[in-house]
Amino acid sequence: MADLTCDFLVIGGGPGGYVAAIRAGQLGLKTVLVEKEAVGGTCLNVGCIPSKALIHAAEKFHDAVSFAVENALGIQNAAPSIDYARTVGWKDGVVATLTGGVRGLLKRAKVEVVSGTAQFIDGKTVQVGMGDRITAKTIVIATGSTPVDLPPLPFGGDVLSSTGALALTHVPPTFAVVGGGYIGLEIGTAFAKLGARVTVVEAGPSLLPQYDAELVKPVAKRLEALGVTVHLNARATGHEAGRLWIEGPDGPAQIDADKVLVAVGRKPYTDGLGLERLSLPTQRGFIPVNDRCETPMRGVFAIGDVIPGPMLAHRAMAEGEMVAEIAAGHTRVWDKQAMPATCFTDPEIVTVGLSPQEAKDQFGAAKIGRFPFTANGRALATEGTEGMVRVVARAEDNRIVGIQAVGQGISELSSAFSIALDMGARLEDVAAIVQSHPTRSEGFAEAAMQALGRAVHI
Ligand code: FAD
Ligand code: NAD
Repeated sequence: MADLTCDFLVIGGGPGGYVAAIRAGQLGLKTVLVEKEAVGGTCLNVGCIPSKALIHAAEKFHDAVSFAVENALGIQNAAPSIDYARTVGWKDGVVATLTGGVRGLLKRAKVEVVSGTAQFIDGKTVQVGMGDRITAKTIVIATGSTPVDLPPLPFGGDVLSSTGALALTHVPPTFAVVGGGYIGLEIGTAFAKLGARVTVVEAGPSLLPQYDAELVKPVAKRLEALGVTVHLNARATGHEAGRLWIEGPDGPAQIDADKVLVAVGRKPYTDGLGLERLSLPTQRGFIPVNDRCETPMRGVFAIGDVIPGPMLAHRAMAEGEMVAEIAAGHTRVWDKQAMPATCFTDPEIVTVGLSPQEAKDQFGAAKIGRFPFTANGRALATEGTEGMVRVVARAEDNRIVGIQAVGQGISELSSAFSIALDMGARLEDVAAIVQSHPTRSEGFAEAAMQALGRAVHI
């Protein structure tokens, strides 16, 4: 590669960076994307996609196993087994299809992809590795995040980050998870369904601390049914020869753990980026930005996991699209009302907007409507009656300000929830929409009706 000059330079090819680059290319900007590992970033290569593939395979296997014993559906399926190496091959194939697709989209948008680690020389120039320099009018930092490690359990050997856990080529007999958040519970549940004896060690007083008890309860119940042991208010203190040492409310204890997944959060990643040369301040490692994702340095933007906010792929993508349009001269500002979050546990949890408590704190009074899946025909007919939809509205005008749901397959309702919130729907709007029967979507309309005091099916 010879020295390059371009309009738009993106550092990092994850969901934030590759979307920014594609959109900039579509808009006619001469665009370069520098990626040090693999296009697709954390999400496509070692995050969202492989974890969801693993969760799906585990669910299928667990279904097969449940049919090996007497069951309500009368299905018989003697002694199912799993060839896990093949499962892993399939999962890797899904990743390859998607990353190949992204490379194709970048090519179609005429984005030049450069392999290597980008390092700032100044606010307009980066150097790739020890090699050539790229000068750009606009530079976007999209370098993502990396797992937080715990001093008593450094990554290596049998102590794994999510990347290591997703790369295992066999199902360990015993699997401990330190951190009962998104990653710990998504991957922990998958390994429990694949046949591992799973233990979760969570420092806080509840699993998934970002969600309220009503949302977490069905997940905790399901973990118990799957035989997962949960230690709350507990911390891991070390690991040796297949044993994890923990310190809990009842004192020290040891847990069988052939493999240990440490999933206690992620931190912004800017190692080796040369930020010090820009005099760009960071806050706890995050790069602060304004509502256009501009850093304090003119022409330098930052998006995705490396800036404050929820570490979610769809947020990074939306920011990527926005900064490309700003660089192309469009008037854009971050004005999203809805930022859905989905936890792919069993059952799944979806949230968007304010919780009941947040709405009460913000508006003084809120109307809350609920619809439990025990009263939903589709849920009954698919053996998934755990959970509910909850709608939160401003009391003064019934404007919906938050929606939460927990239930089997509920992730697919996140679109309806986001549309309602983003378009400023009121309870009456959602209650008036005819929903297809029998579907879980009926629960959404019924929750709005319940908030209005006129639910029909409960
Ligand atoms: P990243 O995807 O981290 O990409 C950053 C890229 O920058 C990387 O490819 C890196 O190699 C590259 N890079 C870094 N520094 C340099 C440099 N100096 N030069 C060149 N390249 C560089 N989110 C969801 O919304 N839904 C999910 O279901 C979900 N599941 C997840 C499951 C797991 C196991 C994990 C770990 C994360 C999951 N996430 C999920 C979070 C999601 O992956 C991130 O929010 C998302 O990837 C952030 O995108 P990004 O573009 O900011 O950064
Ligand atoms: P997390 O913040 O979701 O969960 C970390 C958990 O570890 C928390 O429950 C916390 O209380 C606990 N913890 C912290 N220190 C501990 C300690 N010393 N011992 C035991 N427990 C401890 O973080 P994560 O699961 O690592 O995921 C990182 C981020 O990745 C998430 O916040 C999310 O933004 C993103 N992610 C999203 C999805 C999704 O959208 N479905 C899936 C996976 C990851």
